[in-house]
Amino acid sequence: MRTAIFAVGFLLLSASALFAQAPQKAVLLIHGGAGVLTDAEMKELGLTRADFEKALAESLAAGFKAMQGEGKTAVDGVEAAIRVMEDSPLFNAGKGAVLTADGRAELDASIMEGRIEGSGEGKKDPRKRAGAVTGVHHVKNPISAARAVMEMPDSRHMLLAGEGAERFVFSEANLKKYNQERVSNTYFWTDRRVAEIRKKEPKLITMSPKPVEKFGTVGASAVVNGHLAAGTSTGGLTGKWPGRIGDSPIIGAGTYADDRACGVSCTGTGELFIRHAIAHDVVARMIYKKIGVVEAASEAAAQLPDDDDGVGGFIALGADGIYRGYVTAKGEIYVALLAKEEWKRVK
Ligand code: ASP
Repeated sequence: MRTAIFAVGFLLLSASALFAQAPQKAVLLIHGGAGVLTDAEMKELGLTRADFEKALAESLAAGFKAMQGEGKTAVDGVEAAIRVMEDSPLFNAGKGAVLTADGRAELDASIMEGRIEGSGEGKKDPRKRAGAVTGVHHVKNPISAARAVMEMPDSRHMLLAGEGAERFVFSEANLKKYNQERVSNTYFWTDRRVAEIRKKEPKLITMSPKPVEKFGTVGASAVVNGHLAAGTSTGGLTGKWPGRIGDSPIIGAGTYADDRACGVSCTGTGELFIRHAIAHDVVARMIYKKIGVVEAASEAAAQLPDDDDGVGGFIALGADGIYRGYVTAKGEIYVALLAKEEWKRVK
């Protein structure tokens, strides 16, 4: 593991992790991607730490609110929290997403619920559901589109791509139910992302020599009455080849949830997370080896390759390199931005 760039974010949620890492028992955790901007970089972009803290707090407040009341679920919390970050231009998801080599926003998202009921170690449970969309260009909130796919009758499909995904999401039945809006691709563009693309080779469709190491994908994991959910939403990597799919819409790579273990949402070089099926690997280690989330995450991280093809690593809840926050059962909100930074209570 290259420790110098131990910047790829990992969000983990389970009771054991929370007790180990967070000062209070959290019910919702979020991340706004690995590759935290330095104060100087923020200044250059006309941003401040307060902007990020505010956005994280708004996401947590929305997620927390969505989880209150009869029948509300961890999925409600995850979806609501991620929607706020998708609507914020600060993160690499929804508005503000990075652009492909030919200058378009191409979005991916996934969501999973970890519910296990009855026998069969979870495998027989029809409610152990997941949904994802990839390569969508007009879906304002891809996380809700992923949820729509997850909730397809009989869990018929799990991952829909491109135009087909959009046709499904924008069907009359789904538009309202999942609070979807069709937007022009230009809606997602921000000056920052357009400038990033312009800095690249002037020729259309050139691969960036290296993935940009400021990620900004968003993710969340929540727990309600012992049931977990996790979700992830992203624009992918700056200057990615059109059609490239990263880990974020891949269940088992970028997102996984299982009530027996934890909820996981990843950010970083997606290819690495896919090759190592990282999100599921953490969950599987916990279940097979009967170990805690911190140990499982460390083990999973340790088996990532030490090469130059990408950056890799894990950050368990409370560790560094990832914009993050959590909300307690009492509604208190804590956020943190930088490495080893103390949690800051903002509400
Ligand atoms: N994991 C995302 C991808 O590879 C990128 C990110 O985390 O920002 O698409």
